[in-house]
Amino acid sequence: MALELKLYDTLTREKRVFVPLDRNNVRMYVCGPTVYDFAHIGNARPVIVFDVLFRLLRHIYGEAHVKYVRNITDVDDKINARAAERGVSIRDLTEQTYQNFKDDVGALGCLPPTVEPRATEHIEQMKVLIDRLVASGHAYVAEDNVLFNVPSMVDYGRLSKRPMDEMIAGARVEVAPYKKDAQDFVLWKPSKPGEPSWASPAGIKTPGRPGWHIECSAMAWKHLGETFDIHGGGIDLVFPHHENEIAQSRCSFNTDVMANYWLHNGFLQVEGEKMSKSLGNFFTIHDLLADWPGEVLRFNMLRTQYRQPIDWTVKGLEESWKTLDDWYWIAGDATGGAVSGQVMDALGDDLNTPQAITVLHGLRNRAQGGDDKARADLAASLRLLGFLNETAAQWAARRQTGADVDAAKVQGLIDARTAARKAKDFKESDRIRDELAAMGVVLKDSKDGTTWEIAR
Ligand code: AMP
Ligand code: ZN
Repeated sequence: MALELKLYDTLTREKRVFVPLDRNNVRMYVCGPTVYDFAHIGNARPVIVFDVLFRLLRHIYGEAHVKYVRNITDVDDKINARAAERGVSIRDLTEQTYQNFKDDVGALGCLPPTVEPRATEHIEQMKVLIDRLVASGHAYVAEDNVLFNVPSMVDYGRLSKRPMDEMIAGARVEVAPYKKDAQDFVLWKPSKPGEPSWASPAGIKTPGRPGWHIECSAMAWKHLGETFDIHGGGIDLVFPHHENEIAQSRCSFNTDVMANYWLHNGFLQVEGEKMSKSLGNFFTIHDLLADWPGEVLRFNMLRTQYRQPIDWTVKGLEESWKTLDDWYWIAGDATGGAVSGQVMDALGDDLNTPQAITVLHGLRNRAQGGDDKARADLAASLRLLGFLNETAAQWAARRQTGADVDAAKVQGLIDARTAARKAKDFKESDRIRDELAAMGVVLKDSKDGTTWEIAR
């Protein structure tokens, strides 16, 4: 395959040609959700962006030659607090939340990753790494905690390139008197009564639980090896999470790199403001799916290049829906095409999805002019990007009925109204008309019967 894929690497701060360690086994790790509540639309961004990269890598190297690992963090303070608040077991909370996450991202057109490891199933690997770090002098035990000693790693901080005083200030948030250095971070900590706990590493007698960073080092190691190709996540994870993953993995394995390309997506804000519960502009994926098809959310996300900030707006969603209506209409059922070379060029340039969409608009115009190859290529390119998961008829029916109106129920009410009118029970027929109007359904009576549509 001749395509040149270039990716912006946060570690070297440049776009570099992607060369996998082994083209028969291309390996990517992305930090996954902490499962305590519904994922919000900001969380959907890395899931969609890295799904596009996963699909592109599969297209280039072959489906059997790409391994994508996205973990599930199922041990965390927020999980413990939420389970206690709701009076449910930690296991029930994490399993239910994971199921919801799977349903949500499936509706966004994302493929399941090759492996979705759970942190709690990798405690043994975490302990192996912790013991190695203690043995090699990179970590120490203090008051039943195990801490990574940051000054023990000469080139700590290369990923975030934060000035040392800033890192120290950041680390001081959780300063503890037993730390040798203010930047040292937790690998393992004692569990309080009632918290999940495991037998501790490093000769510690009290049971404990892992810190967040070591989870990813252990799961990446288990499923991808000591060094792999791509590590991804949101830009907020660069420091401290990814910086600390690098420190743990490189010092455990004595390697120069953990991953060869570090990719980070930019942040999403809503209608020009930071999304927050207090501002009332906080949306879960689940909420949005009640009003918008998953593919509309996906398309809206991909209209912006992944490293840029996104302003998520209702206007943008409406435009995205219109575009997909048009493309489904033109090419929804077309088959036999090939992914457009220009789309591949755009994606190969650090996943330039807005440029790919511009190319798709061009194909659409040619298709409308009668170019059947353009039509088929438009469909193939859209499928590569994770669209056209429905037939054109299914898509159009959704628009006719509105996202959340049950067509069978509407028809039942119309039949009941027709029967009432025949029986001259106009009070009942008017009541049914009002009930339908409350659902947003507008009736049109004609001599051939009654049809309906959604008021917009
Ligand atoms: P969290 O559950 O906060 O650890 O986030 C899970 C993933 O979602 C991480 O990769 C975050 O970087 C990413 N993320 C969280 N909030 C946003 C946002 N507003 N925009 C884009 N990505 C986000
Ligand atoms: Zn991680």
